[in-house]
Amino acid sequence: GSAKVVVIGGGYGGATAAKYVRLLSDQRIDVVLIEPQASFVSCPISNLVVGGTQTLGDLTTSYDALATRHGVRIVRDTASRIDATARTVTLASGATIRYDKLVLSPGIELMFDGVQGLREAQASGQILQAWKAGPETLALRRQLEALPDGGVYAIAIPEAPFRCPPGPYERASVVAAYFKRAKPRSKVLILDANQDVVSKAALFKKAWAELYPGMVEYRPQHKAVGVDPRTGTIKFDVQDDVKADVLNVLPPMRAGAIAVQTGLANANARWCQVDYQTFESTAAKHIHVLGDSIQVAPLMPKSGHMANSHGKVAAAAIVAQLMDIEINPRPMLTNTCYSFVDEKHVIHVASVHEYVAAEKTFKTVAGSGGVSAARNEAEAGFAMAWARNIWADTLG
Ligand code: FAD
Repeated sequence: GSAKVVVIGGGYGGATAAKYVRLLSDQRIDVVLIEPQASFVSCPISNLVVGGTQTLGDLTTSYDALATRHGVRIVRDTASRIDATARTVTLASGATIRYDKLVLSPGIELMFDGVQGLREAQASGQILQAWKAGPETLALRRQLEALPDGGVYAIAIPEAPFRCPPGPYERASVVAAYFKRAKPRSKVLILDANQDVVSKAALFKKAWAELYPGMVEYRPQHKAVGVDPRTGTIKFDVQDDVKADVLNVLPPMRAGAIAVQTGLANANARWCQVDYQTFESTAAKHIHVLGDSIQVAPLMPKSGHMANSHGKVAAAAIVAQLMDIEINPRPMLTNTCYSFVDEKHVIHVASVHEYVAAEKTFKTVAGSGGVSAARNEAEAGFAMAWARNIWADTLG
């Protein structure tokens, strides 16, 4: 029979890989995509749902085109076990699927144990993350709507690396924009474990100072180590406790649980080291890991745009191997992350990363990329166009 590729995770990395294996093999390689969610809900743009200017429906795309247009077999289930020797995946339903090549793009696992009390506070719905778009995004929005004017929203940010370097700062900004419209005596506290804003620092700080004077407060070197939802308290390793009404505490993150369980998280027991030419795991043959789960080279962000790029590089490598095509890839990855600083002003960061064979790593191309000169309205249009394009490229 034909060769078979199994993809675990229909997010930015996995869905792209599934589609591009079908395209690059002229549909000669069978692709099975395992994903528990009924449809794709994008994290990019989800901060606007928190801020109240978009709906979850605006971020949702069906998996139908992958099936009907590209012939990807979609299995709505969760992968519970991988046997890298037998080359099988066992599903939560109990079925077992054999693969020739496995693509693993399970996103992130939130390490709740890194912040005392957070697991229970999250389970009871009191302290949310909303770092995977879906019901929690709406729940956080409801907490903000219920906040009286004069209340305090606090977001705690873990040490880098984490999913979406500019994401927490964008969220703080659009929450401030909502407060400015609807409850102007309220406050936004940004409690950051890092030394400084991790992405677009100067642009974010300028936006906070100019758009939200006295409303947004940024505190670096605040590493959250505990929470008490009863008193609305966040505890830090060094600094004094902070109290707030809506607590949005992001714990440290690592590779998706299935990657960790399979023994693929061989970088600091958190991220999966891959061969950057093919995205094949350095811990297991025939398994390609993509997206947020991988150990990145310096300056490579954990972004949807990057995960989509990884998906194409891995698809090309897999198709070449399964169809006996000799290639010596020198992949190029691109990235753009747009961030809304209010309802209509946006800033971006962009970069291009090339594979340097002599060092077996990715390096940013000199002179590529950069950040916006200043926040501006034109980029709000570009940001929405970027989202529509990447959804079409990943799922269309
Ligand atoms: P995901 O897209 O999360 O996909 C993982 C999928 O795997 C999920 O669908 C999950 O259900 C599935 N899965 C997990 N485990 C299993 C299993 N065992 N079996 C089967 N399926 C499984 N990036 C940008 O480029 N631009 C932005 O503007 C941007 N904004 C962001 C804003 C926010 C608030 C957040 C949180 C993130 C943002 N990102 C942005 C980052 C982006 O969302 C991630 O980098 C991207 O989703 C990573 O893709 P992935 O394939 O690794 O994981």
